[in-house]
Amino acid sequence: SETHLAVTVTPMIDEGGAMVAFDDQTAFKRAGAMRRDFVANVSHELRTPLTALIGFIETLRGAARDDRAARERFLTIMERESGRMIRLVNDLLSLSRVEAEERRRPATEVDVLGLLRGAMNTHRDAAEAAGVALRLDAGPDPMRLKADPDQITQVFHNLIENGLKYGGAGGELVLRVTRLEREPVLRGPAVQIEVIDKGEGIDPLHLPRLTERFYRVDTHRSREKGGTGLGLAIVKHIVNRHRGRFRIESELGKGSNFIVILPDS
Ligand code: ADP
Repeated sequence: SETHLAVTVTPMIDEGGAMVAFDDQTAFKRAGAMRRDFVANVSHELRTPLTALIGFIETLRGAARDDRAARERFLTIMERESGRMIRLVNDLLSLSRVEAEERRRPATEVDVLGLLRGAMNTHRDAAEAAGVALRLDAGPDPMRLKADPDQITQVFHNLIENGLKYGGAGGELVLRVTRLEREPVLRGPAVQIEVIDKGEGIDPLHLPRLTERFYRVDTHRSREKGGTGLGLAIVKHIVNRHRGRFRIESELGKGSNFIVILPDS
């Protein structure tokens, strides 16, 4: 059977259009259109939960006023919708922070395995609730490289979260760390981190667009699971900033492998 490949990243192009030098009008216009799309998407994503909130407030004032069970139900929905908005705003802030730092090289020496173990611990309970075993597959050697620890942690969080959301209830989520003596594209030593699930997989048709902001295979499902549609866009931008590579391999019905490669130099 065939494994499908989507290669993204490496060229430092900002879809928002903010920091790119344009050599022609077409590119300039395209960036403008992208920015307008982005603002339209954000507005839509915020308006949906806000509209729901306003609706429920009205109902709570009126019909549901004396119905305790209905009140509880509506408050639960309101809590969920508010949670969605705060996650969206947090993700937007993360994106803009990464973009603002895109030109500054990360200079802190970080312990990749330590950060990964920390991220796994954060998700321990959620994994248990989802019936997924988190497994670290790494050698005994420490993996150190220059990176931004908060951003690398965020990459791990986003990929683990997706693995739990879409990786299939039951089963296993494997986090594999490998040292590459010479990564062919980066032409030097690198650390490779893979997040591997045996879940639903992704139709190859979607792979090239998965790291676009707000792109989802199934909008309804993503929303239902509390997704913002920004997780992989953030991952891509962070990996870009680290001059690394991000690749997704997936097979429908079998599972996915999200591969982050960070240069060690
Ligand atoms: P979301 O907030 O919707 O999860 P992401 O940017 O993190 O946004 O992911 C974009 C889309 O990619 C998701 O909506 C989902 O359709 C798909 N996806 C992400 N991770 C996985 C995975 N491990 N398995 C299958 N599909 C995935």
